[in-house]
Amino acid sequence: MPTLVDVEREAMSCTRCALHRGRTTVVFGVGDPHAELMFVGEGPGEQEDLEGEPFVGRSGRFLDRLVQEEMGLTRDRCYIANAVKCRPPGNRDPLPAEIEACRPFFDAQLELVDPKVIVTLGNFATKLLLSTGEGITKLRGRVYPRGRRLVVPTYHPAAVLRGGGETRAQMRADLVRAAQLLAAPTTVPAAP
Ligand code: SF4
Repeated sequence: MPTLVDVEREAMSCTRCALHRGRTTVVFGVGDPHAELMFVGEGPGEQEDLEGEPFVGRSGRFLDRLVQEEMGLTRDRCYIANAVKCRPPGNRDPLPAEIEACRPFFDAQLELVDPKVIVTLGNFATKLLLSTGEGITKLRGRVYPRGRRLVVPTYHPAAVLRGGGETRAQMRADLVRAAQLLAAPTTVPAAP
């Protein structure tokens, strides 16, 4: 059974999809390797590509602040990863084939970190976890079982920074929901 370090080492030299051509570094994931809470984003942006860490730019700082305020957690208590580990050029959306190529890395992270609660940030991460074509606006506000884990979809912080007050309040409410699930005894709710 490979460890998280083994999987990261493999990802660092990956050329499975075209995104490897434009990357500065592979942004594998950070945080507590045994965290009960995992955040899943879309893909690295410019700053993340330079630093090799997810969510370190403006939207990352915003996410850190909301997580601290609504959940009382710092990022070192969570695990944070993206659907694709290399930056899409010009911050374009990752293509379905790129997400699929990177999926074995994500699946291994999920298995090895083994979180109780997963917060998906935006459409791409939510689609990856829930295999749905529905948009985040419709999906957020509820909890979805995924095997023995619970998925809480919410907006991508970059979208909230652009979107204004209502999405900000909704994202805060989603994080409070995730915190309540973390604190509750492990039970998987019925599908909505
Ligand atoms: Fe490999 Fe994923 Fe990077 Fe594509 S995005 S090159 S699959 S690590």
